[in-house]
Amino acid sequence: MQAEDRRFALRNLKLIAVMAAGMVSLYAILDHFAYPEYQALFASLRWTCAAIIMVLLVLVRSRMGKRFFKFFTVILPLVPAFFVSITIFVTQDPASIYYAGLSLCIVAIGFLFHWTYREAFAVSGLVLIFYLIACSPAIANGLTAKDGAGLFSNLVFLVTTGVVVVAGSFAHQQLRVEEFRGRERLRQQKIVLRQNARKLQVTLDELRKTEGRLIQSGKMASLGQLSAGVIHEIGNPLNHSNQALFLLRRRLRQFPEDDMIREAVEDIQDSVDRMKEIVRELREFSHKRSEVLGEFPLKDSIDVAVRMLGKEIDDHVVSVEVRVDPAVQVRGVKNQLAQVFINLLHNAVQAMGQFETGRRNQILVSLTKTDDRVEVSVHDNGPGIPDGIRSEIFDPFFTTKDAGEGTGLGLSICLRIIEAHRGTIQVFSDGATYTEFRVVLPTPRDPSENAETIEAAAHHGPSLPIPPDTSSRPTDPLLHENPVS
Ligand code: ADP
Repeated sequence: MQAEDRRFALRNLKLIAVMAAGMVSLYAILDHFAYPEYQALFASLRWTCAAIIMVLLVLVRSRMGKRFFKFFTVILPLVPAFFVSITIFVTQDPASIYYAGLSLCIVAIGFLFHWTYREAFAVSGLVLIFYLIACSPAIANGLTAKDGAGLFSNLVFLVTTGVVVVAGSFAHQQLRVEEFRGRERLRQQKIVLRQNARKLQVTLDELRKTEGRLIQSGKMASLGQLSAGVIHEIGNPLNHSNQALFLLRRRLRQFPEDDMIREAVEDIQDSVDRMKEIVRELREFSHKRSEVLGEFPLKDSIDVAVRMLGKEIDDHVVSVEVRVDPAVQVRGVKNQLAQVFINLLHNAVQAMGQFETGRRNQILVSLTKTDDRVEVSVHDNGPGIPDGIRSEIFDPFFTTKDAGEGTGLGLSICLRIIEAHRGTIQVFSDGATYTEFRVVLPTPRDPSENAETIEAAAHHGPSLPIPPDTSSRPTDPLLHENPVS
């Protein structure tokens, strides 16, 4: 409020000073009629007063003036009041009509400045004192009845003016305090509103991102369903190729000397066998019925993952070394653990794909076993994970990959599966040359242990979005189910 008062006072001071200097000079006409004998003296007094007011105007623009602006708002009315009092003193006329000049100083300037009631009281009191001092020689010399009545009425008017100005300043000040509080409340509310708007914008952006991710997940689910159909459709041609190969082989026995054809047929047979294996694994992996809880060598899950990512591993020229003892058993759902390793290997391969150092891309999967737990480490020599995001990578939908390349679901799915297996997963990286995920799983002891949570994960938990094949086609001898239990 003080700052606002200062702005207001400085703005009005110029106006008041010019007005006061002008009026003081203009009222010289009054001297001509009221006191012609003192005209010259009063004119010089008036010019002195106007000059002092102008000096005040200059001073108030200085640094000190701006700092003590309140002092100027009080001094300014007192300067003309002082000079009016001198004219009363000179004329020895307590009933002088110039008392009106004193009232004008209090009222006009009180209006144009935001005086507090204390300032109004001080100015009114001092003006009254000036007037009494100016009249004191006349009072001391004895007043006529007419002069006494004039002095009394002048005093009454001056006091009343003072009271009105003090009361008005008080009421005005109260109003201004209220108004200021209201404005302050409004300002605070505006700040809160702006903050809320910002929060809303952030939420809106988040929602938009989530919507994009959901669409992406939806696309993935459709892709999974599509692949299920494709897997199924591949089954029959593969079957026929196998039967044709069988016949071809039989016929070939009649031409034992033709090595070239025999080798070609062997190559075709190898390729068909490889395709059978891939299709079988894909179906087994996607089939809910194969998500059976059991004990199995952990290496099986890792091998499935390496086989399924075979093409990607080759494309990125990555060498994957699996140093895992095939005798180490765990209890859980083989497909789900395979999915964990698929996600970890997939991330490692992708990270190394973008990382060009001229170094050989290497992934090492190793296993250590103690009495009660097995620890699998998936270590790659890719670009690492920066410190700043390491704590976020397990959050659903967190990804640093381009749209279409990453969904941000891989590691959150891993975490969920491993927690369902009562295990833990940790990440280590220097943010520059390596990333290592360590998966710790309990070794099987009591068969009933963990069954409930792992079963739950098996039936509600995440899996690749390839639905089980429920068609009623004739059983395909190549694509048989082979649940792990
Ligand atoms: P997505 O692979 O779809 O992005 P993930 O949850 O699997 O989702 O991974 C989250 C993020 O973790 C990745 O976007 C990547 O930034 C980081 N990340 C995971 N594994 C690795 C790794 N081996 N090397 C470097 N960054 C990795």
